[in-house]
Amino acid sequence: MRSRSPATVALACGLVLSIVVAPVAAAPVATGHGGAVATISEQASQSALAILNGGGNAIDAAVAAAATLGVTDPFSCGIGGGGFMVIYLARDGRVITIDHRETAPGKAGPTLFQQAGKPLDFETAVASGAAVGVPGTVRGWHEALERYGSMRFAQVLAPAIAVADKGFKVNATFNGLIEQNVAKFRQFTPTSELYLHDGKAIPTGTLLRNPGMARAYREIASGGVKAFYEGPMARAIVDAVNRPPVAKGFNVRAGAMTSADLANYEARIRPALRSTYRGYELYGMPLPSSGGATVAHALNILEGYDLKSMPRARAEHLYIEASRLAFADRNAYLADPEYIDAPLAGLLSKDFAATRRALIPMKTAAPGAVAAGDPYAFQDDPSVPLRPPVRASIKMAPENAHTTHLTVSDKDGNVVAYTFTIESWGGSGIVVPGYGFLLNNELTDFDVTSPHPNIPEAGKRPRSSMAPTIALKDGKPAFSVGSPGGSTIITTVLQTIVNYVDFGMPMDKAVNAPRISQRNAPETSIEPGFAGSTQARALAGFGQRWESHAEEIGAANALVFNADGTVTAVSEGKRHGVGTALVQQRGH
Ligand code: GLU
Repeated sequence: MRSRSPATVALACGLVLSIVVAPVAAAPVATGHGGAVATISEQASQSALAILNGGGNAIDAAVAAAATLGVTDPFSCGIGGGGFMVIYLARDGRVITIDHRETAPGKAGPTLFQQAGKPLDFETAVASGAAVGVPGTVRGWHEALERYGSMRFAQVLAPAIAVADKGFKVNATFNGLIEQNVAKFRQFTPTSELYLHDGKAIPTGTLLRNPGMARAYREIASGGVKAFYEGPMARAIVDAVNRPPVAKGFNVRAGAMTSADLANYEARIRPALRSTYRGYELYGMPLPSSGGATVAHALNILEGYDLKSMPRARAEHLYIEASRLAFADRNAYLADPEYIDAPLAGLLSKDFAATRRALIPMKTAAPGAVAAGDPYAFQDDPSVPLRPPVRASIKMAPENAHTTHLTVSDKDGNVVAYTFTIESWGGSGIVVPGYGFLLNNELTDFDVTSPHPNIPEAGKRPRSSMAPTIALKDGKPAFSVGSPGGSTIITTVLQTIVNYVDFGMPMDKAVNAPRISQRNAPETSIEPGFAGSTQARALAGFGQRWESHAEEIGAANALVFNADGTVTAVSEGKRHGVGTALVQQRGH
């Protein structure tokens, strides 16, 4: 275990936050009183704790942690991307969400990722200006702080600025992510300058400073949200998208973003998507993320079984099949609600779930992908004649693990569950010259072949899978959970809830258990070491089949509000390095 020496946190604009970061051991689980935080980065969790100790609330601390993750986990997230924040406001007793998903620029259209009528190769589409959506993160943070926070940008960005200035040691995970992206990064000069050395990944142990990132945060700290969306930084973003800063000999597709696209970007405050499961009220992300709805739909299907009294393998078989059916419906119907009237009321009704449950054989896996159901019959007005044609989702590539999730609570009972991303590892690969942050490739989350609700359109937000979730019991926060991982986010959140609520695992065991992800494919995704295990063999008895390629799935972070008034923060014990859970006052 590592420990930190006391340190004060210097603020931008010459202020000094008059708190001392107490020496605390970094560990993936912590229980105690006051506020709590769990993130995948030690520095990010420390930033959140410093803000809580300095009098900030959970919203302030969440932004501080997120800004620090933008420095220490820049291939997963940052101000070049977007995200979804779910907030439980203790004083008001309500849950709101801040959708700051990237939007397609005004000139984008359905053929964005087609060439001569055919879908583009995925890697070509990703490493391009054309893949970049108008970033939403800074606007999202601004809304969070202005409406629900107690601090200003200058205060909450200070810890991240300190990390970007002083630098941090590149660890094996960070180095491995650059290794995976060398081919993408070397196409762009500012990216190679930051993350490559002689064309190779900067080695583990390097002290990495990011003065450009510090500059970007300083400009936001002093100029506010406008510094990102309207000033020189906005011009640098538009230039980088429309004339990507390619190294000699490379040529990538340019985007068509305008200054107006950036200046007009708006975050949306949306009511959380509410569902119920075995006495819990779940508050998740509404559209354009499919996360909340798909988790809720799968749980509605599972609620009809007494999972806890079944043999574990049968219960896991049902979890896999419920997820398969929920994904069939998600893939067919869900997209940006400002463009598509998705049949959500029907999809989320317990009666529709019952019709889907009736299709699950108790003893055998479905032979492959299953068809979408008909939620329209369960809408309030089932006579609505306009129904989009049902088409399977056609994505350019399977989505896998990227993105980051963090969760924070404070002494007053506010809770934040926040997932944000730049889409693929390393996003588009384009670092904005002079500003040290990577631009997203979020637009590759659109489907590529129309008609489909999720095709690219001007101003539209691509459908997401992000599923930050806050659960209440008897009107009080019970737990929060979320994860990165593309469409596996949904199954990680779903499986963690089933592990915790149905199988009665403590949250750290629920998080660390092997992940199994079925997303309406013939085979189920698994993690290294799972194939051949007792658990896998038992599931094979139900005809469950695994993908041959095994890969780490997700990196969850959670909070549990215990009956004795303490809070337990939980991060990953082994995935994506080791996460860091902290509480303000340790102990029971
Ligand atoms: N773009 C993904 C989504 O919004 C998140 C990125 C990832 O985790 O792959 O669902």
